[in-house]
Amino acid sequence: MRGDTIALIAPRIEARAARIVDVNGLVVSPGFIDIHTHARRGIFDVPTADNYVRQGVTTLIEGPDGSSPIPLAPFLEKVAATHITPNFGMFIGQGSIRSEVIGEVDRAATTAEMDKMRALVRQGMEDGALGLSSGLFYVPGTFTPTEEVIELARVAGEMGGIYISHMRDEAKGVIESVRETLVIGERGHLPTQITHHKVVGKANWGRSVDTLRMVDEARARGVDATIDQYPYTASATSIGAALLPAWAQEGGREATLKRLKDPATRAKIKAESVRILRDERGGGDPKNVAVSSCQFDPSLAGKNLAQITQGRGLPITLENAAETAMWIVEQGGCGGIFHAIGEEDLQRILVHPATMIGSDGEIPIFGRNSPHPRSYGTFARVLGVYVREKKLLSLETAVQKMSAFPAQRLGLADRGVLRVGMKADMAIFDPARVRDTATFEKPHSYAEGVTHVIVNGQIVFENGAMTAARPGRILYGPSTKRAPQSSPSASNAAPGAW
Ligand SMILES: [Zn+2]
Repeated sequence: MRGDTIALIAPRIEARAARIVDVNGLVVSPGFIDIHTHARRGIFDVPTADNYVRQGVTTLIEGPDGSSPIPLAPFLEKVAATHITPNFGMFIGQGSIRSEVIGEVDRAATTAEMDKMRALVRQGMEDGALGLSSGLFYVPGTFTPTEEVIELARVAGEMGGIYISHMRDEAKGVIESVRETLVIGERGHLPTQITHHKVVGKANWGRSVDTLRMVDEARARGVDATIDQYPYTASATSIGAALLPAWAQEGGREATLKRLKDPATRAKIKAESVRILRDERGGGDPKNVAVSSCQFDPSLAGKNLAQITQGRGLPITLENAAETAMWIVEQGGCGGIFHAIGEEDLQRILVHPATMIGSDGEIPIFGRNSPHPRSYGTFARVLGVYVREKKLLSLETAVQKMSAFPAQRLGLADRGVLRVGMKADMAIFDPARVRDTATFEKPHSYAEGVTHVIVNGQIVFENGAMTAARPGRILYGPSTKRAPQSSPSASNAAPGAW
């Protein structure tokens, strides 16, 4: 390496070096690129992003699920000024744009509002976005007609961006939702990606056979469609978003609380919540819903909905669990973890050639709350469980799904593979030892077996510890207009090789 760049790859290098690292017996891999993170939860508290870097992740992509800061530029400047360890890129969020222009309401956009939203997508791309994300499951994304998404996707596509979507429905409507995601790519004329692809709810398990066939058929007719996935059979989002129907959340928190106070409306919400608990995210049993974090009562973190229901003096039934979910929303809400994904679907999606890996995680403060273990374990888990133990993927394929494939998808032309002239982002690990150690019971536990991590030519992790280097850069998208200012540049790097 010289500066931030790979200078030479050869069986023997005779040139003098300032530093030689012995990697005998280890795998030297391109640094992992996480295409779906919620890293703005934590990046300013833990700018070293230890949970990710210790897995070999060298680039974090934010702004998924339709949610991003608007505008992007000041946020990206703040990240750059923070001097973080990994590289950092962004999507612009369709839901955030709609919220800004129309609000959290269920109605179509006017012509003037469409113009405003198009302009905000354009501005996001000029500020450095890699594409447009949507979260059509969430409020207000769920109120967006497909045509409106296509209109905005077209703007991102014309500017070189991709479309990535948390789909409208990952449970009983998963087939329709995949179709919608493919149509948006096809008619929006841009690459389209099903993010964290899963099939939620036992009644729907097995439908990945059909969703993957639909992706294959779309690809065969020229739609540039891809997938990302995390290797766990539980999802995570807020209890309210997951267990209450979308219509009950229209208009924001105050409107939701008002509906919950009205007995007739509350009964309707409860009936739908029971159904969601039984057939969808609830996994058929209140035990399958766990609280990850809870501001109004931090002691609830780690407890499941059955325990909390019981703690409120109620017998454990789906009806009472729905009452507890509504009570949680009334108290201020909690984050939740939902065990409702089948391992067979997970494996079928994982081995599909159009699937890459993304954690959907965040940057936890070590020891605080009870987050989904995906934040600590995703990449190491793919290598330990699905490559070494289950032998579902070759090591090379897994590495490609975690580095070259997302780099190519995002248009990061100088990262994702190890080749002379590329940026020196590397994950070095012991293939016999690499593994995730974070569990749902004990999530705050770093991955093992990664020995060195290098970002932009600087060692950020070695000998089991983070170093003082924070060489992460903002990775700007294809239509960026603003010149990157405060981002550390190559000239800051130590001269010569390290
Ligand atoms: Zn999502």
